[in-house]
Amino acid sequence: MSIEEYSAPESEKEFITCGTYLNCYCPQCNINFNQGESAFFNFVSPNGKFGELKLSPYLCVHTRESTLSIPQGKEIKDMICPHCKKSLIVSDEKCKICGSSVARILIAALTKIVPLYICMKVGCHYHGLSVEDEKIIQLDNSTEW
Ligand SMILES: [Zn+2]
Ligand SMILES: [Zn+2]
Repeated sequence: MSIEEYSAPESEKEFITCGTYLNCYCPQCNINFNQGESAFFNFVSPNGKFGELKLSPYLCVHTRESTLSIPQGKEIKDMICPHCKKSLIVSDEKCKICGSSVARILIAALTKIVPLYICMKVGCHYHGLSVEDEKIIQLDNSTEW
């Protein structure tokens, strides 16, 4: 790879490797969710409790910490931007592995900002790009985050 990659045609895929630090943004208010080594979100648990969720911003590092413990296999009811308080869950996409709801955030890929979908089921590590973006960007080890 050289400096020439910046002038590569659109048809050339960008490849984001495991361990890449992803800056995550709210699609509604554009705030950066990252604070150092974590990305911070608010969420609503399956039984309606409000909590805080911390995700690793590194691709393939799928640590999730939350202020409430949610059993494996349960779906988070809502994921919310801590700044604008809007829901990040979208209705037009579902998890491609388990069919659960997904939240949509924006990530700064190598040279672009693209939406990333994250599965809301605890224990499912699905995260993916839109079909359109998958044509230009490939995530390393794309079922694990
Ligand atoms: Zn927001
Ligand atoms: Zn899933």
